[in-house]
Amino acid sequence: MKKPDNLKLCLKSPRNQKTIITIGKVKVGSGFTMIAGPCSVESEEQTYKTALPLKEAGIDILRGGVFKARTSPYDFQGLGFEGLKILKKVGSELELPVITEVLDTRDVEITASYVDILQVGSRNMQNFSLLKEVGLSDKPVLLKRGMSSTIEEWLNCAEYILEKGNPNVILCERGIRTFETFTRNTLDMAAVPAIKLLTHLPIFVDPSHGTGDPELIEPMSLSAVGAGADGLMIEVHHNPEVAMSDKAQAIDPSRYSEIFNKVKKMSAFMEKSIK
Ligand code: PEP
Ligand code: MN
Repeated sequence: MKKPDNLKLCLKSPRNQKTIITIGKVKVGSGFTMIAGPCSVESEEQTYKTALPLKEAGIDILRGGVFKARTSPYDFQGLGFEGLKILKKVGSELELPVITEVLDTRDVEITASYVDILQVGSRNMQNFSLLKEVGLSDKPVLLKRGMSSTIEEWLNCAEYILEKGNPNVILCERGIRTFETFTRNTLDMAAVPAIKLLTHLPIFVDPSHGTGDPELIEPMSLSAVGAGADGLMIEVHHNPEVAMSDKAQAIDPSRYSEIFNKVKKMSAFMEKSIK
């Protein structure tokens, strides 16, 4: 495999090291990790109603967007700081670490004080000011692949975070734009083993944004485990029909549970421990 020559810190060293990120009881990069939760935090009730059955089914980390990067300015933009408080409260009640996306350099410090992992979304992958700022944070960063980015560009963005001194970067493949419009994005599953061969960083797959189709989430979740991913990020809403963002791709907690049971079997086959 061709090695990009401008990368340093994210490349595998000769001793083949693997980054393992400890977040409470969760060890990202060791075994298989499940992140799930709503696209957006809409209210305390909705977050709790979604998170409780997920906790019972088995998740490691609760997701929920509070600063939303929406295509239209007229769409729900997220609850902002109010949402951060809700996410932290529900996470503490259920003893689940939480992750949310941060959009603005000015919000990094305050957001980091509420959550366990900062997410940099697809639209901001090459926001270099934001990358430098999260690189100065003591919280791990989940860096989603830009929707029109090559693997090399994506790894250079991870390099920005590492270079600022934050060693805890998780990559997340969420699909790229191609000529195909049947699916919301084209989930580049080959990126998973490629990233594994090139870097020591954990790599997750987001089959929700990667396909945009609830019926494709299970097969792509199983493919991700088979491709060697370290975890999944799945959007779940207690009542997808009324979700305020990404309702077309949301699954309900019982569907999550069915998928998770199959993911467990596939993880056992891949000899990866899972809760
Ligand atoms: C998200 O995970 O909430 C999100 C907006 O995803 P992406 O950045 O991959 O579009
Ligand atoms: Mn979403």
